[in-house]
Amino acid sequence: MITSGIEYSVRRTKRRSIAIRVERDGSVTVFAPYFTSNDLIEQSILKNVSWILKKQAEVRKFLSENDIVSFSEQELDEIKHLAGEKIPPVFRLCANVVGVEPKKLTLRPMISKWGSCSSRGHVSINTLLALAPDNVMRYIVIHELCHLKHMDHSKSFKELLYLYCPDHVECDKWLSTEGVVLSRRLRESIVNKNGCKS
Ligand SMILES: [Zn+2]
Repeated sequence: MITSGIEYSVRRTKRRSIAIRVERDGSVTVFAPYFTSNDLIEQSILKNVSWILKKQAEVRKFLSENDIVSFSEQELDEIKHLAGEKIPPVFRLCANVVGVEPKKLTLRPMISKWGSCSSRGHVSINTLLALAPDNVMRYIVIHELCHLKHMDHSKSFKELLYLYCPDHVECDKWLSTEGVVLSRRLRESIVNKNGCKS
């Protein structure tokens, strides 16, 4: 059985359906009818992992930088899993739209960039984008794919990119706010893992 890896507390009430709430500190509460099985609750968490992680990221945005919470091992695994599910189909679709044939797609967590593209057609995409809104994920994927036509950030490159992503201003805004918080959380996780932080 796959478990969500998300920690949550359960409050059983007279209600008729399951509801999930992300609290102001990022913790998760599940409200469930009295006789709901634990399996059903876990299933409902699993179905909403993407939403919960996104909500938690939003909540943590309001915490100061010193309070940035690292991802747990389980959360990192979940992000990797989500990325593997969400990014490749978008990648294939966008390659068709842009009319390019990338040779290889690599998904990996990256702290300082969202994606990269080599002249040999190897594209890397940051797994953290699994937690981004769909249009932002698409924006980064298309950015890297447009590099297969223009290997720079020239005017022609931008014209092509903006043609496919008319909402690029909104996407850039997300990346520089919510996106930065996600990167910081990842950096924090790696620092913690390496034991460099007291
Ligand atoms: Zn670029």
